[in-house]
Amino acid sequence: MNPQFETMKVSIFEEMSLAAARHGAVNLGQGFPDFGWPEPLLEDAARLVRKGSNQYPPSRGLPVLREALAAFYAERQGLAFKPEQFVVTSGATEAIAAVLLAALEPGDGAIVIAPAYDAYAPLIRRSGGQVQEVVLRPPSWRIDRALLETAATPSTRLLVVNNPHNPTGRLLDGQELGTLVDFAREHDLLILSDEVWEEVLAPGVRFTSLASLAPERTVKVGSAGKIFSLTGWKVGWAAATAGLADIIARAHQYLTFATPPHLQAAVAAGLGHPEWLDPPRHGFARARQRLADGLQEAGYVLLPSEGTYFQCVDLPASGISLDDRHFATMAVEQAGVAVIPLSPFTEGEPERGLIRLCFAKSDATIDAGIAAMAMAR
Ligand code: GLN
Repeated sequence: MNPQFETMKVSIFEEMSLAAARHGAVNLGQGFPDFGWPEPLLEDAARLVRKGSNQYPPSRGLPVLREALAAFYAERQGLAFKPEQFVVTSGATEAIAAVLLAALEPGDGAIVIAPAYDAYAPLIRRSGGQVQEVVLRPPSWRIDRALLETAATPSTRLLVVNNPHNPTGRLLDGQELGTLVDFAREHDLLILSDEVWEEVLAPGVRFTSLASLAPERTVKVGSAGKIFSLTGWKVGWAAATAGLADIIARAHQYLTFATPPHLQAAVAAGLGHPEWLDPPRHGFARARQRLADGLQEAGYVLLPSEGTYFQCVDLPASGISLDDRHFATMAVEQAGVAVIPLSPFTEGEPERGLIRLCFAKSDATIDAGIAAMAMAR
């Protein structure tokens, strides 16, 4: 066995979802919604399966989806992508893998900004790259140039950015985006910009894609699962310069080759109806507030959250002395609620007093989660 697999742990999402099932706990851990998907998408996908949309589609994705993506991003984010600049993948995580396999040569450095989504580091290593970790600190989690410079070496080739940010729920501001672009240009880095949460924003928050600021070097990764609240569909994409998209497409051929065509076609139809995203946006805003109010009433101190399905809680500030992992174990086993500890998202020196809760749930689930969190203290 390759020794890298000894350090590659069971994902914290899988661990906590299995624990929730085992203990019959409310699952506010792994980020998936229990409402919010547009019904016509389900009907479309079912109809297309019955109609016979069941054989291999083109490896790069159905033309109708790549056209719909170009139109959607032009309209929502002012981006000038052409259909041929998209590679459709089986979920955003596959897009990330394909980009890393396409971009990294053995020994290349890739900067990861921690806390970081848990797929980046193992995939960088399996692509032959070296992880160069930058660790942000709460409560601001701000990125600054000096911090980025400490991680860069002559071998650095790629910068991974996640905005809006999982697990903190933070959105990068204009100054930080400018810093990232300047830094990437000066060191001639490719930016892998994981923007899967681009449509999951708190009320009044505006999102800017790095692809609009540095189109020449940004690979934008997106997810229909997040846009349409259908996380199990595993329809994602990477968008890049035409030359880079060709190489990513070659890596993708030997990962999954293609993505189920009926799901691609249904997503394409959905992208033509951005108004379908309004009801879930309002629903998630209410859910966000409901969980925040309930946790605060139960005595928990929250960190700011502007995007994603997630709300972080500061355990020491809430008067809890257990570290994040012990709290999460106790909460799922004894209080009946699964949450995600933040320390697994940092390899170096993690914060050990923060947990993440998912609010993209119906009222009854949120209320049961709050009641269990009240018991956990
Ligand atoms: N993105 C989801 C989360 O952050 C989980 C994805 C997964 O389980 N692989 O909770």
